[in-house]
Amino acid sequence: MQLRRKLVVGNWKMNGSLAQLAELGPIADAAREAGGVDVGICPPFTLIAAAVTRSGGVAIGAQDCHQAASGAHTGCVSAAMLKEAGAKIAIVGHSERRADQGETDALVRAKAEAALAAGLITIVCVGESESQREAGGHVRVVTDMLAGSMPDDWEEGELVVAYEPVWAIGTGKVATPADVIEMHAALRAALVARFGDRGGRIRILYGGSVKADNAAETFRCPEVDGGLVGGASLTAAQFVPIVEAAAGG
Ligand code: PEP
Repeated sequence: MQLRRKLVVGNWKMNGSLAQLAELGPIADAAREAGGVDVGICPPFTLIAAAVTRSGGVAIGAQDCHQAASGAHTGCVSAAMLKEAGAKIAIVGHSERRADQGETDALVRAKAEAALAAGLITIVCVGESESQREAGGHVRVVTDMLAGSMPDDWEEGELVVAYEPVWAIGTGKVATPADVIEMHAALRAALVARFGDRGGRIRILYGGSVKADNAAETFRCPEVDGGLVGGASLTAAQFVPIVEAAAGG
């Protein structure tokens, strides 16, 4: 039996509309037919409740949450609110939020704790910039990020890590299998060192320009338990082959 079930999650970022929720039907059908893979879609906050009604079994999630349960935080959304809207997943620490909103490891950890407390499957994103990779310290950068961003308390299956090299996000540059294998092995070792056997059961996703034509090769790499997919998750035509690749890998 597989130690970790594959997971493929689409991150729609600030894209999508009510009309685009029609993509969920064929994605749900494909996920059911492929079997053996968990599938999620994270649309913008405003589409979550409507997406839940049309999900067909695809887990709907959010791209962020606030670290507090409630209060005077204009424009923010708490994890409990997401849960009430029907979300099952929260992505925290995406590199675009780390860059655009200045989110630190400590804040990402607090958000992850809030998401877990609300009962959401929590995907903690980590990844190095191009200059950090060129300087050769990428493995240390990413494992340090992981150490600072991961909460201590979580239930089995609820915590997920996504390795997303910043230079590969939305650029069409995919990490090579060697890059992926190197980083996922380092992340796995760090998780096992910190959490013991439980760390061996945390799913580690790869994200960064995953497309139909590179998904199977990436998902075959050791310690890759699926993908976090941006641009190619916006249509069923592009996303379904990625789900199928995960199911077959
Ligand atoms: C992402 O934003 O998480 C992502 C991986 O984007 P893309 O697939 O477009 O590179």
